[in-house]
Amino acid sequence: MVQAVAPNLVAAVSEARQWDRLMEMAAIGAIPGDSPEDRGVNRPCLSPEDRQARRLIIGWAEQIGLAVSVDQLGNLFFRHEGTEAGAAPVVSGSHMDSQPKGGRFDGIYGVIAAFEAVQALREAGVATRRPIEVVAWTNEEGGRFAPGCMGSMAYAGYAPPNTWDGIRDNAGISWADALAEHQAAEADITRRPLGVVEGQTPHAYVEAHIEQGPVLEQKGLDVGVVTGIQGSRWFSVEIRGRSDHAGTTPLSVRRDAMQDAIRAITALNTLMRDPTDVLRFTVARMEVFPNASNSVADLVRFSIDFRHPDNAVLQARGNAIEGVIQAALTTCTATLSERFHATPAQFAPLVTDAVQRAAEAQGLGWLRMPSGAFHDAQFMVPLCPTGMIFVPCRNGVSHNPAEYSTAPQLAAGTRVLAQVLAELANG
Ligand SMILES: [Zn+2]
Repeated sequence: MVQAVAPNLVAAVSEARQWDRLMEMAAIGAIPGDSPEDRGVNRPCLSPEDRQARRLIIGWAEQIGLAVSVDQLGNLFFRHEGTEAGAAPVVSGSHMDSQPKGGRFDGIYGVIAAFEAVQALREAGVATRRPIEVVAWTNEEGGRFAPGCMGSMAYAGYAPPNTWDGIRDNAGISWADALAEHQAAEADITRRPLGVVEGQTPHAYVEAHIEQGPVLEQKGLDVGVVTGIQGSRWFSVEIRGRSDHAGTTPLSVRRDAMQDAIRAITALNTLMRDPTDVLRFTVARMEVFPNASNSVADLVRFSIDFRHPDNAVLQARGNAIEGVIQAALTTCTATLSERFHATPAQFAPLVTDAVQRAAEAQGLGWLRMPSGAFHDAQFMVPLCPTGMIFVPCRNGVSHNPAEYSTAPQLAAGTRVLAQVLAELANG
């Protein structure tokens, strides 16, 4: 029979406190949705709203005596000390930034849940041998500055911290300038070195998150024991032609970038065909120049978001994209650049088994499942044993103001997280 590790700890997780904190956070950058009852969030990374949200949680951390620190990428840490000096920490958290039309739970739930779990540990008087660090990673969404996951990538050494300095948001502000402004605004917060501190590679990393898909809700389950994350590749395509007068220039002599972009996307749809419906292929951002209805387009830029759980497919079809585009063009030229490349990640049994054990011990319905979305956890995989906990969300909707999970659903995930953190921090 499975025993709960610490029933008093599980009982100390406060559903109401966690919900109230989520709603207080959701008021920062609040936006309406398509239906009157939907309330979403627009909290771009490194924005004034982002900083306001961070100040709010920093205030809570100071109230309960957690040490606050921030690294050069703006990753924010709250540290609960362990009983053994020098023991490697267990790290848990997620992100606080949102999509432009985002929901109230994506990311922020994982930060608030880790915070609630640590507060419950402290209130229940459960000592841990290892320290526990709650983390809020910078720019997971990539909504303002692409790609996403910059904070966790830099922390894990996946990319040097200056990799994205020249990337600009839609207002033309560079990442380097936005980060410098942000650092100045948080100059009063203790600085910590970027990445693993003093050789203390984390003992484990656990991230709680809403599922962002319909599976748990459809099956009536409480918790997803996440087994891994599918791989993602993001590309940016530029099709260059020539601008001409729409009334005077015969079609036969045009070099119409829009028409060749359509041919390229049609050919890519054929390349990405998948009878098993596992592959994900999305073109969702397009810029047209000069973007005038009576001028032939001389430049079209579009994005490609391609994902698959099988690395062989991710590599083979991803590498075929450029050739397929070139073959589809009639009069224009194309350039392709890869903006983001994350190979599929497998989570560690140390964490996945602990999540499953905690869910069983608490009498919850659980399912081992992969993640279709990428998460900061992906970049922690090479560094330390890593895993995630999913909770259901209504109709699987996310990146949308209609995103919703109930207070009891969110609290169930946090109780599992609390038990997992206690177990890992004593292991
Ligand atoms: Zn997220």
